[in-house]
Amino acid sequence: MLALALLLTAGPAPARPVPPRALPANRPDSGATSYWQQQVAYRITASLDEPSGVLTGRELITYVNRSPDTLREFYVHDYLNAFRPGSRWAMADSAEGRERFQHLKDPDYAFERIGAATIMGRSLRPEYPYAPDSTIARWALARPLAPGDSLTAEIAWEARPSTLPRRQGREGGGRRFDFAQWYPKVVVYDRYGWEDHPLYPAGEFYGEFATFDVTLDLPEDQVIGATGVPVEGDPGWERARANPAEAIDYQRGYYAPRPAPTCPGLTLSAGRKCVHFHAEQVHHFAFSLNPDYVYEEGRYGDVVVRVLYQRRHAGAWGGRNRVALRRTVTALAWLDSLYGTSAWPQLTNVDRIERGGGTEFPMVIMNDSPDLGLIVHETGHQYTMGMLANNEWREAFLDEGLSDFQEAWFFERRGDAGRFFTSEVTVLQLDLERWSEPVSTVSERFRDFYTYNRMVYTKGMLFYRELRYVVGEDTMRRILRAYYERWRLRHVDEDSFREVAEEVSGQDLKWLFGQWLHATVLIDYRLRRVERHRLPDGRWRTTATIERRGDGWMPVEIGDASGDTIYARATGQPEVERVEFTTARKPGRLALDPRLLAHDWNMLDNWERRAVVGRAAWEIRVDDPFRERARRDRLVRAWLPVGWYNDLGGITLGLRERSNYLGSYDRGLLLGSVATRDGSTSRAGFYARWSNPVRHPLPRTATTVAAWAVEGRAGVALAVDRSLRRHLAFGADPHVGFTAVWMATTDVGYLDRRLWDDGGTVEAGPWVSTSLEKGSAVVRARLEARGGVMYWNPGVGVVSVNRYDVEPFGRATGEASLRAPFLLGTRLGVRVFAGGYIGSSGPLKQRRITIAGADPYETFANPFLRSRGALFVRPDFHYQAPGGANLRAFRGDLGGRWALALNTDLSRAVFRRQQGILREVVLEGFFDVGLVDSLATTPSPSGKWYSDLHDLGVGVVTRQQIGDLAWTMRAEFPLEMNAWDRAPDFHAPGDRIDFRWLVSLEPSF
Ligand SMILES: [Zn+2]
Repeated sequence: MLALALLLTAGPAPARPVPPRALPANRPDSGATSYWQQQVAYRITASLDEPSGVLTGRELITYVNRSPDTLREFYVHDYLNAFRPGSRWAMADSAEGRERFQHLKDPDYAFERIGAATIMGRSLRPEYPYAPDSTIARWALARPLAPGDSLTAEIAWEARPSTLPRRQGREGGGRRFDFAQWYPKVVVYDRYGWEDHPLYPAGEFYGEFATFDVTLDLPEDQVIGATGVPVEGDPGWERARANPAEAIDYQRGYYAPRPAPTCPGLTLSAGRKCVHFHAEQVHHFAFSLNPDYVYEEGRYGDVVVRVLYQRRHAGAWGGRNRVALRRTVTALAWLDSLYGTSAWPQLTNVDRIERGGGTEFPMVIMNDSPDLGLIVHETGHQYTMGMLANNEWREAFLDEGLSDFQEAWFFERRGDAGRFFTSEVTVLQLDLERWSEPVSTVSERFRDFYTYNRMVYTKGMLFYRELRYVVGEDTMRRILRAYYERWRLRHVDEDSFREVAEEVSGQDLKWLFGQWLHATVLIDYRLRRVERHRLPDGRWRTTATIERRGDGWMPVEIGDASGDTIYARATGQPEVERVEFTTARKPGRLALDPRLLAHDWNMLDNWERRAVVGRAAWEIRVDDPFRERARRDRLVRAWLPVGWYNDLGGITLGLRERSNYLGSYDRGLLLGSVATRDGSTSRAGFYARWSNPVRHPLPRTATTVAAWAVEGRAGVALAVDRSLRRHLAFGADPHVGFTAVWMATTDVGYLDRRLWDDGGTVEAGPWVSTSLEKGSAVVRARLEARGGVMYWNPGVGVVSVNRYDVEPFGRATGEASLRAPFLLGTRLGVRVFAGGYIGSSGPLKQRRITIAGADPYETFANPFLRSRGALFVRPDFHYQAPGGANLRAFRGDLGGRWALALNTDLSRAVFRRQQGILREVVLEGFFDVGLVDSLATTPSPSGKWYSDLHDLGVGVVTRQQIGDLAWTMRAEFPLEMNAWDRAPDFHAPGDRIDFRWLVSLEPSF
């Protein structure tokens, strides 16, 4: 085997000491003075067999114990073993419902198999302390390794990336390879001991700074992007150049003394080549292969920038503008302006196999697109993660949060603060709903991968923004420069960063780090009072009284409502704080935190009150029904004129207001309407609903109050909906809730007497529901019970004292549905329903268990379904509002004391796309069958206590989207049914099989 031919030709690599860096003056308590890191060198020789995807390698690790401890064991990571069944990674995926590596078969899964290992001169077999996970291998040392002593480890191994790519990968059946974490890699030994941490989806890597001397035996036509510089051999760039006229800077002489040649020691087969790379002071070596790469080269200062992209992506990545290259240079320039000159010779940006985002390695970034934000983020990691190397599973915010912050800052300077804005809205909602966990949590101990990402990236990014706010932008820049100056090419942690930040700013910042990284506090301020006094010298003294309502605190600015002028900054710490400032001119209307920097979750009480309008913390705008507008600092109140029709009121005109704060709080709906028909009664109406008050947010609980007096009905409703979900990104979504409703009829003229009796109910009861999405299958279930009293309004004519009847009743409904992939690309939908009503006399029509669709209470808020003659309930218009027993072919006014039903449909998408108005067209066949109370339809033969009903037909369902508004349209043709005289468009004599139709704006279930 080739592996045997690749025996290392050199003896132990000379332990070239890392030149000790002179540390800048530190305070005596600074962690930098007692800092140490281990000294590691790798000499790797490896050969890739492309058809099998297996790389066969040998490495010689030279390890000098620079710690103050005596070591008795030695560890390496075999990271590729994460991407196979049985790994901790695979188990974490299974727990979160992700299907990736847990069931991959040979030859698709990755592996990294240690063959022979010689540690301290002894041939030893490794142990796998986390078995069945094998991402950590361990050896007991033959003799203790004292401080200052060194050892060598010679390891032969075979490695194969997975065909399902994740931060590494190979193209199944192809010639593309992204090699990352592909060699037995020394586990970091730091002040906490061996960091023998298996690889999980959350948290990336942690490595010892080392010298890498890597000799690769590859097919002759491969083009390579790699960490380090090619000191020998042809990486294929010349042949791959986009512009053949351009010279290539190989930087072969970058490292001095130039490493000894290794290629002459290799025996190459025909059609193979040797390429020898060298890198120093990096904690990983990654490389990417693709014979079809196109190569472009540029430079920022002394740093050579190489871009390798697939030929078919030339339009996006290259072109005349050399898009990816120019953006990578731009990113390096931005980072240089923040930190200083890169400590490394080059940066290679490769077009990777994995879709979605990018991954950073020292001197290499692997990206799926030339997106500017992605390039700035991944290039940012050359500093945060690369040269400032944190332990990524212990404190991932130090690389991801900081890199996201640098990226957002980059765009902010170009006039786009959108990243900060959207991140803050996301984080505020997670904070308020109590999903947030401390940012400093160990990566795999976050509740789930979603929470890890939101905390470490998004809230981490805001943490750095808050630090910049507290210390000021100039000081922030000085902090980053000092951090890099002191800690580059070392391992960093929160303490090292905080010490630099405190030293440079001259401030104690533990309160800030504590609240943002180690706790999940809520921050909220209220502007209580403002007093202005004219001083004898003509100037103005203003006193603002500020109230702290949250458990967290931040300095809070006091400025003009416009945000143009900041007068003062309150400390934000006391529960009530008075801040005084003097100005030459009388200040205008004041606001707290007008620049939106203090993470204040309710900014509606930050505005100074004025006469009549009060705080006026709103923005009134014309409602665009296709856009959901939310603001960070104001209630958005969107108004829209609306109109509809019914028989009594005629054309009815209304004005609707939708309002919200941060999308989900203070959500309101106000609708005032006036009927225009002469002689109509009860012409003015209103419907009002208000949810989730921001002043009293209840985590994971939606509260709603509603009241109405419209079109002959009046009522109030209270509703509570508590989410019991455990994970935001996967798993079941169970809810429990409680609803109380009073609904009265006040003007029979509006009532559709097929659906409504002249009476009312006062009812209340609990409900439970759940839904679960697994793959493309969706399960839903809901149970609801109500109890209360019903009453009949006195009729006209003779009225007895007993006519005003009140009667207790109970009503319960339950339904469960499943939609899942079925045979031949179809989807099967099944729903079961049961409902019943108990009362000594029959139910009011509006409280019957409905046969064909939703009951009148459920559709009441829709003016097209509310009153007699409204568009969707006109006798000649066959609209179906789904619900109840959902026997869709039957008349919407049928109902009784009970119903049982089974609804099914089998559908197949014939058109689907991600953009445009029309997103999907689905053809379906449906079948509904039910047993219903004889009160709903006359049984056949008569005398039975139930009727059996069924319908069968075909339909077309389309999904549309414009902006944020998505809706369904359904046209169905119930071609066959029994009891056809109960169809909405029945004309005698009728037939079992006939052409019938119905339409709907909702899915059937
Ligand atoms: Zn990142």
